[in-house]
Amino acid sequence: MAGNVKVMIAPGRYVQGQGAIWEIGRHVKKLGKNALVIGGPTGLGVTRAGRQSSFEEHGISEHEEIFGGECSYAEIERLTALAIEKQCDVIVASGGGKAIDTAKAVAAGARAATVIIPTIASSDAPCSAMSVIYKEDGTIEKFFIPPRNPDLVLVDTEVIARSPVRMLVAGMGDALATWLEADAAIRSGARNPARGQSTFAAETLARLCFDILMEYGLQAKIANQRQAVTPALERVVEANILLSGIGFESGGVAAAHSLQDGLNMLEECHGFYHGEKIGFLTLVQMVLEGRPKNLMQKVFEFNHRVGLPLTLADLSIENIGEKRLREAVAVSCKPKAIIFNHAFPITEDLVYDAILTTDEMGKRLKSGQAIV
Ligand SMILES: [Zn+2]
Repeated sequence: MAGNVKVMIAPGRYVQGQGAIWEIGRHVKKLGKNALVIGGPTGLGVTRAGRQSSFEEHGISEHEEIFGGECSYAEIERLTALAIEKQCDVIVASGGGKAIDTAKAVAAGARAATVIIPTIASSDAPCSAMSVIYKEDGTIEKFFIPPRNPDLVLVDTEVIARSPVRMLVAGMGDALATWLEADAAIRSGARNPARGQSTFAAETLARLCFDILMEYGLQAKIANQRQAVTPALERVVEANILLSGIGFESGGVAAAHSLQDGLNMLEECHGFYHGEKIGFLTLVQMVLEGRPKNLMQKVFEFNHRVGLPLTLADLSIENIGEKRLREAVAVSCKPKAIIFNHAFPITEDLVYDAILTTDEMGKRLKSGQAIV
């Protein structure tokens, strides 16, 4: 393939709004008549009333199945067999990232349509094609790419407003990286996860994602604290789910997400969400890149304002020692890692020094000292 060919991929239909779940049947009936709905007890529960009422209104039958909690081959095979046995033509995920990724893989296996109802806005998984499959021990087995993105992503902002605030903030951390990573990948000409160059559309959506967070991030968090749906919350939910999803997958990825692969081996930070780790690693990427003063100040202050990690201590890894931190860096810098999607040479020493400097800047910012 020629190096300059652009590829952009996106969900077939995106629906967002307060009470949107009560209209889901109108969108699903174009895709199929018999749905397998998977999620945890909470994820299924918070959409049940609106979903079942709307499915009934539009003549769609459904079978609810409690999802086992991990997106593993065993769980995907179990649910795929169930979908085939029940002749389901639509697989619906109602829940968070792991239920969502499982539904994508089950739908591909059962040759059914994929419908995603995110009940939290904690990552940009819903709109992307990618499904991260884990081993039973919790480590990553494979990045599976189904033939197409979800056919429908439906977000009810009332459901999101009632979800835990920490989830929305984590989603902002994941979305914070989107433009900075896409920008780095575009500058270097690295291919995006859709295996092409970025379109101007994806680049623009990634930038819009960043601007919305800067402008409305804290306001959205405050609304979420009172379970309120406001224009700021609507904007941030769209940034976390739609703009970040297209922005990373069709824009590009770089150091922040590569560093997360390294951090994954440190069990001290296993209690933190993907987006929380990415929030800190976005700062590390900026230091690594030597981004200018104003941008640096803006993003560090953003993390401080919304409550995303600023230091190693915020991720409980301040005492792991140089050796283990360097081992994590080495995992992030293995050959062909996406950390090399930058336009300048990356070394493990450079990455290690960027982490220490970010940690120091975070400490200074917290104590009211200048960081740039
Ligand atoms: Zn992410």
